[in-house]
Amino acid sequence: MAERTDFIRDIVAADLREGRHRTVVTRFPPEPNGHLHIGHAKAICLNFGIAAEFGGRCHLRFDDTNPVREEQAYIDAIEADVRWLGFDWGEHLHHASDYFEQLYRWAVHLISAGKAYVDDLSADEIRAHRGTLTEPGRNSPWRDRPMEENLDLFRRMRAGEFENGARVLRARIDMASPNINLRDPVLYRIVHAAHPRTGDAWCIYPTYDFAHGQSDAIEGITHSLCTLEFEAHRPLYDWLLDNLPVPSRPRQIEFARLNLTYTVLSKRALLRLVTDGHVRGWDDPRMPTISGLRRRGFPAQAIRDFATMVGVAKADSLVEVEMLEHAVRDVLNRTASRRFAVLDPLRVVIDNWPDGKVEEVEVPNNPEDPAAGTRTVAFSGELVIERDDFMEEPEAKFFRLAPGREVRLRSAYFITCRDVVKDAVGAIVELRCTYDPSTRGGDAPDGRRPRATLHWLSAEQALPAEVRLYDHLFSRPDPGADGDWLADLNPASETVLRGAMVEPSLRDVPVGETVQFERLGYFTPDPDGTPAGLVFNRTLTLKDTWAKVRARG
Ligand code: ATP
Ligand code: MG
Repeated sequence: MAERTDFIRDIVAADLREGRHRTVVTRFPPEPNGHLHIGHAKAICLNFGIAAEFGGRCHLRFDDTNPVREEQAYIDAIEADVRWLGFDWGEHLHHASDYFEQLYRWAVHLISAGKAYVDDLSADEIRAHRGTLTEPGRNSPWRDRPMEENLDLFRRMRAGEFENGARVLRARIDMASPNINLRDPVLYRIVHAAHPRTGDAWCIYPTYDFAHGQSDAIEGITHSLCTLEFEAHRPLYDWLLDNLPVPSRPRQIEFARLNLTYTVLSKRALLRLVTDGHVRGWDDPRMPTISGLRRRGFPAQAIRDFATMVGVAKADSLVEVEMLEHAVRDVLNRTASRRFAVLDPLRVVIDNWPDGKVEEVEVPNNPEDPAAGTRTVAFSGELVIERDDFMEEPEAKFFRLAPGREVRLRSAYFITCRDVVKDAVGAIVELRCTYDPSTRGGDAPDGRRPRATLHWLSAEQALPAEVRLYDHLFSRPDPGADGDWLADLNPASETVLRGAMVEPSLRDVPVGETVQFERLGYFTPDPDGTPAGLVFNRTLTLKDTWAKVRARG
């Protein structure tokens, strides 16, 4: 039984309790015309989650009824994304196209019952006849065509005798219905296009409305969960089930779609970002696609946690992207290994360090989790630290390295800055420091405590790396609210650093694993990297108190 609850889980629980169903069967029904995004993840977690909690099952069904926009590559990517999110459809991988023959026979059934007809009006004419929210529609001149003629024309539509758009099959319901979806909706259109699965077998394809509910009924779906824009389609969903000899009776329930600040969630918009070259592809780490979030280093667990936090409701809402980021930090803080990396290196020479000596210092992998163990990192007389961890003339509240000041190098030694070396134009190129040999491991025998602890690397052992810093893809929380959403793209959403240095052990972190670069944030290897040219993406920053203090002050 489900622990958490919401209006959908309440309905499912009542249906089981009152014996309307013995097993709950849900489905996730993507159209393979793009990659899945975080909104789909909400629907996936809901459908697979409910099935798991109530001991039922969830099908993955491709709603592949429009061959013009659909591709096998999308089908493969969707399967990979659902699996990566942690869900398993078992035997139940289905396609609306598996039912094309059955759907065709049901269309013939409707025609034979006088409930569907072939219309010769063009798409524009059909639109013009449809009426508006305040005016009823007008009947097509073909609405009362004899049944035999309808059957003959529909058969010939299938046989390929007519051009795209020449005719459609429409349900014969009510052109005066207050619900526009019941004004003789189109059930089949002519599309001469090869289908990724059925090839050239068909040149007529069912509409979403005609395919969806009937596919649900064929698969024995008990609860067909979809987003609110389908609410007005529910009377049609029910009308078709009422008028066809379907083997089961699914129930459609609508929930609010996920909207996120600083994000667009529409496959059409995401496709545009890709085709116009605003991003590196569908899996760009700034994209809200599941593949983008994965490449960014977001763990699947965090996305599932986020879906739980968001919950399901009947009213549309806008969720702060910071909530998703919080879920990610929450998982990574517990699980990510700590590593050293220096994004903008400043050379530090330790004048009193024995010439040529290299020492291995032991560093904990995760201070939150002693079971994660320790590793060793090379320490020597030539180090690098983060350039912004030094200020020649420190501002108030800047406690890190400055001339004459002592700081702790994490797990290693205390160092004191003795001199600043500059180049001909006055830029700082090196710090001369001394270390206190009695502070090995990072503690002083006399108990003195520097106010700052810095990360560091031994210059000779560290590896060069490219690091890509990411920020929101859009510069306002509501892209497009003032017009063109593309104009709201954040020009600084990606910053590429080419001179970073990282701990040698980072060469062994596989793509798909996210680590914490101490004090900098969470980072993950990008698939663009090679052993000779490491590339890391910044998943998220840690909370940077210094940036906040400075912004306020
Ligand atoms: P988009 O509107 O982003 O182009 P779509 O609705 O056309 O997406 P489908 O492939 O038809 O994409 O969606 C599959 C399922 O995912 C549907 O049941 C749909 O309701 C659900 N879904 C799509 N977008 C969201 C969202 N933002 N939040 C929750 N569920 C969503
Ligand atoms: Mg859709």
